[in-house]
Amino acid sequence: MPPVTVFLRHTPGGRGEYSGRTPMTRITDTLALSPIGPMPEDLLDAVAAAVAEAFTCKTVVFPVLDNADFAYHVQRHQYHSTAILDRLAEGAPDHVLKILGLTSVDLFIPILTHVFGEAQLGGKACVVSTCRLLPHAVHLPGSSSYRRLTKEAVHELGHTFDLRHCKDPACVMHFCRSEEDVDRKSDRFCRYCSVLLDDALKALHEAD
Ligand SMILES: [Zn+2]
Ligand SMILES: [Zn+2]
Repeated sequence: MPPVTVFLRHTPGGRGEYSGRTPMTRITDTLALSPIGPMPEDLLDAVAAAVAEAFTCKTVVFPVLDNADFAYHVQRHQYHSTAILDRLAEGAPDHVLKILGLTSVDLFIPILTHVFGEAQLGGKACVVSTCRLLPHAVHLPGSSSYRRLTKEAVHELGHTFDLRHCKDPACVMHFCRSEEDVDRKSDRFCRYCSVLLDDALKALHEAD
């Protein structure tokens, strides 16, 4: 993918709006970043920039949920990510193509001890957590420290465009069990996944 310039505009309400543009690629649509509870502004900026570049899209910050208490599992002391996805999808405005929840709580699905995030495959919603990827997020100095999170944000959004896990360990769609695995992969789609993503984006354009 060619280099992308990211434009940042702040609206009076304090919500950022970003767009990634290249001369060769049209803006496809808008993706919503949806902080669940307080989230550092530079973290939102970093995720917005990564997402805008990866998907050649605009992003808006659009909170839907104040907290994830409804997804809390008493025995596990964790939060069921699938329940969060359902609420995000319900609350997403019609004009956004996808919605990415950002939370600081520890997420799980029943068959795994924890997940970094979860997505509706080919659907509208995904979520990613800072809990294990950035346990000290509020103390980090700048956006370059957020790369683990931005990779997994792009990864989960990739699933909403129907991308599956990729065998290429450097591809952002590679499945990572540990934080170190996330550090080892890049923030880019491999050639194969790029083609699949372009096809998905084109199909969405044609359906407009
Ligand atoms: Zn995945
Ligand atoms: Zn790939």
